[in-house]
Amino acid sequence: MSGTDGTEIDADVLVLGGGPAGTWAALAAARAGSRVVLADKGYCGTSGPTASGGNNLWYLPPGPERAAAVDRRHVEGGLLSEPAWMHRVLDETYRRVDDLAVNGRYPFGVDPETGRRRGGSLQGPEYMRRMRRMVHRAGVCILDQSPALQLLIDTDGVVAGATGVHRRQGYEPWTVRAGAVVLATGGCAFLSGSFGTDVDTGDGHLMAAEAGAEFSGMEFSSAYALAPSWSGHTKGLFMQFATFYDDQGARLGDDRATAMRYLLDGVPVHARLDRAHPDHRDLMRRSQPNYFLPLDKAGIDQFTEMYPVRAVLEGTVRGTGGLRITGTDCGTSVPGLFAAGDVATRELITGGRSGGGSHNGAWAMSSGSWSGAAAARFARQRGVPDAARPIGGVGLEGDPDRTATRSIIGLVQEHTLPLGRSFRRTARSLQDSIAALDDAWTVAPVVLGGRGRELVRARSGAALLAVARLVSHAALARTETRGMHVRTDHPDTDPGLRHRLVTSSLARVDVRAEGGPAGRADGGPAGRVDGVSARRGANR
Ligand SMILES: Cc1cc2nc3c(=O)[nH]c(=O)nc-3n(C[C@H](O)[C@H](O)[C@H](O)COP(=O)(O)OP(=O)(O)OC[C@H]3O[C@@H](n4cnc5c(N)ncnc54)[C@H](O)[C@@H]3O)c2cc1C
Repeated sequence: MSGTDGTEIDADVLVLGGGPAGTWAALAAARAGSRVVLADKGYCGTSGPTASGGNNLWYLPPGPERAAAVDRRHVEGGLLSEPAWMHRVLDETYRRVDDLAVNGRYPFGVDPETGRRRGGSLQGPEYMRRMRRMVHRAGVCILDQSPALQLLIDTDGVVAGATGVHRRQGYEPWTVRAGAVVLATGGCAFLSGSFGTDVDTGDGHLMAAEAGAEFSGMEFSSAYALAPSWSGHTKGLFMQFATFYDDQGARLGDDRATAMRYLLDGVPVHARLDRAHPDHRDLMRRSQPNYFLPLDKAGIDQFTEMYPVRAVLEGTVRGTGGLRITGTDCGTSVPGLFAAGDVATRELITGGRSGGGSHNGAWAMSSGSWSGAAAARFARQRGVPDAARPIGGVGLEGDPDRTATRSIIGLVQEHTLPLGRSFRRTARSLQDSIAALDDAWTVAPVVLGGRGRELVRARSGAALLAVARLVSHAALARTETRGMHVRTDHPDTDPGLRHRLVTSSLARVDVRAEGGPAGRADGGPAGRVDGVSARRGANR
């Protein structure tokens, strides 16, 4: 295998995405003896939200604390999670943190009182630097700045690799034929400007949908975070110490939900971290230095001075929905295709509540490791296919006259970013969005395309549109308020809707219910949700 000069590579396992999920997947596959290629849209080790900031983990040592945490979270997530999966993730995360300490030599601190490793908090840049090194040492071939554009399938309809381009080499194409593929391309934040999510445009969702994959929990995609109004810096841990004020300095409240409600009503909101104890302020600076950067740069002392804030959508990145997982190996509904991290649904451990803040990071480690090992097993049995063809899809035409990417992205953002579209939903606004987005999907094959950089943007535009459609259809079907999904026309939780919603097909987005009260990791019983299947759109 060659690094970046070869355009045709055969591998056992291809991993798409080099964030935490992708690097753990690549490592697990390489440790299982596979020849592994990892392709990242950016630079593996610095790309994505984890590499840009701190990463808290759902990390608990074995013991009674775990059962209590699982019970608590199961309730908070609207009873859609599965305690068995939650315990699995806690177990695996505990092992991987140990792995990172021993093999990655990550310099974890130790709690002086308990003598325990402080495994629940990682500095993102240091974490991902060490992950890159571990992956590299395991013999993985890393293709940096090499976005994947479409999947390959073999003659049996099994996913068998991908194609993409090398951004740093004149957008030369690359093709990797592989016995199995792990998708780890992150969630979709709709290019909202949120911290580190510029690469999270839903490319993997689009490629998987084109291969026929199903999604779950896409309605749980309405995570917003507060950032200083002039920046996308959405690290929000310290907002718990904030008091919120209007622009006359009148106190509005001290919780984020109140701040969001005022912002929804168009009231300018300012924050001041005046509830942080003076003795803790230095420690706060040391633990998340990047939180303070935009404020320091603006010359604002956030403990004593107010600063304006805005709400920034983080979509499925700090949400929950993604590719439906069909078993404990993190397989998807498409043979040969595995999913890990934010591209996959995290309902199994978070239900309908945001997974950002610790669960997503633990899920990325665990699902990455499981999917990588499973992909290696799958590839061993199947081997590298002799023949594989690109699946094709919207935006892949190299026609330089198809230049509507900017307006497609603008339309998607109009129907996703405003608080009135995603934070609070109604049937009316969702139907309006569905009509506009489905219409756009019918014209997308004609208007999206381009060469080189424009081709990559066109595919991202198609991906954003595809994800927005899956989200809107699922959100319309969930006629209740549950977890982060809030319907102002259905403000209560409906016990009869305690099931997952599975979306599929881009030509005609279908939504069906899956599972009963607890759902099942193996799929569980499924039934159609009456009247929610989309009737519009014509293209996959
Ligand atoms: C501001 C912020 C703070 C967060 N803090 C926490 C936290 O403290 N704890 C927590 O649990 N979670 C947190 N999260 C959630 C966090 O996103 C996940 O924990 C984690 O980053 C998911 O890892 P991932 O590998 O699945 O995706 P990402 O980290 O998003 O990585 C995806 C990778 O895929 C690559 N990629 C994308 N498209 C392509 C393509 N077409 N071809 C090839 N490569 C591609 C990207 O370049 C990127 O490297 C936070 C999210 C945000 C936005």
